[in-house]
Formats: sequence, structure tokens, C-alpha cells
Amino acid sequence: MFLKRHQPSEYIQYLRAADKRVELSQTDERILKNYLKGYEGENHYFEMAQKCGGLKLWDVSLMSPGLAQYDFIHIYNGKVYHFDIKNYTGNVRRVGQQFVSDGDYYYQDIFSQLNRADFYLSNFLRTHGFQNEVISHIVFINPQLTLIEDAPDPRIVKPSQVEQVIHFFRQDYQPSREEERLARILLEHHQASNPHDRIVYYPFQNKKKGIRCPRCRYIGLESEKSLKKIRCHCGFVEQKKIILKSAIEEMLLLKNATVSRREIEEWTSMCPKAIKRVLKESFQMHYNNRSTVYCLLNDK
Ligand SMILES: [Zn+2]
Repeated sequence: MFLKRHQPSEYIQYLRAADKRVELSQTDERILKNYLKGYEGENHYFEMAQKCGGLKLWDVSLMSPGLAQYDFIHIYNGKVYHFDIKNYTGNVRRVGQQFVSDGDYYYQDIFSQLNRADFYLSNFLRTHGFQNEVISHIVFINPQLTLIEDAPDPRIVKPSQVEQVIHFFRQDYQPSREEERLARILLEHHQASNPHDRIVYYPFQNKKKGIRCPRCRYIGLESEKSLKKIRCHCGFVEQKKIILKSAIEEMLLLKNATVSRREIEEWTSMCPKAIKRVLKESFQMHYNNRSTVYCLLNDK
């Protein structure tokens, strides 16, 4: 079991919601693209690592004293393993400490990033009274990658070696009390949001309306009146009220303000009765200039 899973930041959630509804700026477009590519790789590792024994955490950020982010941490048999997942594809050449793709795309110095994160993690453990050894690796997860290097590097896990890593963590392993305590301390010190994140909102009025399919990201899911479920052409099926709830949450995120029932009707094209029910169950009502508006529960 994973003690922690990745949660996209509010900024990324906003970009995912705004994507294809409005033309994103080049910067936002690039940030979202890089995020999705990285997430795909991490999610792939996450799925594989379900089988691993030991204590596992996905996406932890620690301040020690500099801020460092860890894709995956495994606490196992007295050691702390840190894996930095790279979802590179195509031909990538290693030139000294650098990696360069076929298109001459130069990857940032991933070894120095790894060493920095390793250093801060060791530092964090010592500060909290733990002596566990830290072992850090770069994991190239995507089988579509061909890595060209003069000599193998022990810090690198190639796509063909990932299975081996997964099998290394035996499923029947029983963590010690100390290991459980260490995992708790890591969780307690996790820095949830990046202080540098700042959302630049696009005007809500200009955005493309419609319910988005969470699987294929198609915008414009429609409901058939007599059915309780909504179906997408990609095969995704979900209960209407669950889809409607997340559509309203997405609207609130995009608008960064309360929404009215009329706005929800226009946005989702769902029947007013169903909307009324979901609003009553899952959202908070307010009066604003003599009109009724809605926001998330516990929001002001
Ligand atoms: Zn779909």
C-alpha cells in the first residue's frame, strides 16, 4: 500500500481544467505538457510498484534546508530508496554527465539534481535522528527509450531493468516500528504546495463549455434523460451525479468564484432537477446581491 499518492497542485488542476477550453499561453501550455509527460511516467511506475513490499510514498517535497522533491521513496530493510522517474522516449545519448536527445534536446543536468535531492534527504534523516542509508536512482521508465552510453552507470535504471527493481522489494516484507516512524515523519514534513505557484486566470466567459470526460478528456459529454449513467464514446461510464459534481467543481476552479444554477445549466446541459439535487447534496448555498450562488462546502 502507498502511504501517500501524488496530488496535482492547484495550478496544475487549473491548467488541466482550462486545457482545450481556452487557448493557453505558451508558458502554461509547456508547463502542462511537461507535467502530463512526467505524470504518465510516474503513474506507470506507481502501477508497477503496487506489488512492492515496504513503505512507499509517491511525490514528497521536503525542506532540508533547501527544498527538494522526491518522485518515489521506498523504506525497506533499513534503507531509504529514492527514485527519480524520467519518461524520456526516443534515442538519448549520454555525453559525460549530460543527456542529449536525437533532436538535440538537452536535458537539464539530471545527475546533479539527483545528487542534490540525495544530499538533502540524507540531511533530513540525520536531522531527525535516523541513520538509514539513502540510495538514489534515476529510473528511465519508458520502453520507447533507447539509451546510448559508453559504460553503464549504477545510478541508472534502464526500462528493461525496472521489473528487477520491482521484484527487489519483497511483498511479504514487514516494516519495523522505526521504519513506520520514519515514514510518518516524512509525511508530516511534506510541503504540499509550491510557494512559487501562482495561477494566472483566463476569463471564465470565453471558455468552451461542456462536461469533460475524465478518461479521454473529450469536452461535451451528454446525458440521456432516462439513464442514471453518462457514457463517453471512449467507453468511459460513470453515474450522472458523480460526473455532475466534478463538473461543478471544475467550474468553480475555472471561475475562481461562486457559480449560479443557470450557469451550471448552461455549462453542463444537464436536467435542472439533477443539478438541484447535486447542489443540495454537495455544495454550499449563498445569497449574493439577491441571487443564489454556490461554492464548495466549507468555503466562504
Ligand atoms: Zn471519454
